Amino acid sequence: MENRSYEPEKTAKDVSLQELRDRLAEFARVRGWEQYHSPRNLLLALVGEVGELSEIFQWKGEVERGLPNWSAAEREHLEEEVSDVLLYLVRLADVCGLDLGHAAVSKLVKNANKYPVAALTRALP
Ligand SMILES: [Mg+2]
Repeated sequence: MENRSYEPEKTAKDVSLQELRDRLAEFARVRGWEQYHSPRNLLLALVGEVGELSEIFQWKGEVERGLPNWSAAEREHLEEEVSDVLLYLVRLADVCGLDLGHAAVSKLVKNANKYPVAALTRALP
């Protein structure tokens, strides 16, 4: 078996959805967790993580973009919960047999067609 490190990269890296998908699949496989990773279970786990993410913002009121007044610990916590949401979403798409990257790009195109820029600028006062 490959001895793969799960330490984060030391430098910024453009991580692909495919890499995350493959690493998550391996993470589950070596732990014998595939039996628990049904679409329903993963969806419920995803919703739970969205709840944890929401708790970070709960009671803070509106916060500034870039979070200039947040502590390093608060930012780290946010990074962890955002990552939990992403990872469960990637895993859910994988066990459903979806190509998440292709689906997301297709949805962006649909949204662009649904909300054309010209129509939006006409609607502005
Ligand atoms: Mg979490």
